Amino acid sequence: MSDCIFCKIANKEIPSQMVYEDDLVIAFKDIAPQADIHILVVPRKHLVNLSDMEEGDKELIGHIHYVASKIAREIGIAESGFRIVSNHNTDAGQVVFHLHFHILGGNSLGKFW
Ligand code: AMP
Repeated sequence: MSDCIFCKIANKEIPSQMVYEDDLVIAFKDIAPQADIHILVVPRKHLVNLSDMEEGDKELIGHIHYVASKIAREIGIAESGFRIVSNHNTDAGQVVFHLHFHILGGNSLGKFW
């Protein structure tokens, strides 16, 4: 999608602090961190959110979680703990309508649901 900010980051049309990339996903530091560690894991494929997911995307969503856990281990927050969040539409506060998963950690996050 030509007007999507995360597509532009994936295509290197706008800069980001990239921490991981492969053929399927990118991961970069959130521009407005809500925890000491705040990284976004984003599929290169433009899906709006999880409701946009089709059966053929199951492996991709699994891969995103694998990458998130790999990043968490590599940056040293797997032991202390981290949270994966994907905001879905307005009530959840989704503002970028390209599917993404937040990795939050590096400090105590408290509980919420
Ligand atoms: P959400 O509310 O789940 O849609 O989260 C979107 C996230 O994208 C927010 O945490 C923003 O701070 C983050 N964000 C927006 N633009 C950029 C950018 N150019 N680089 C890094 N993070 C961004």
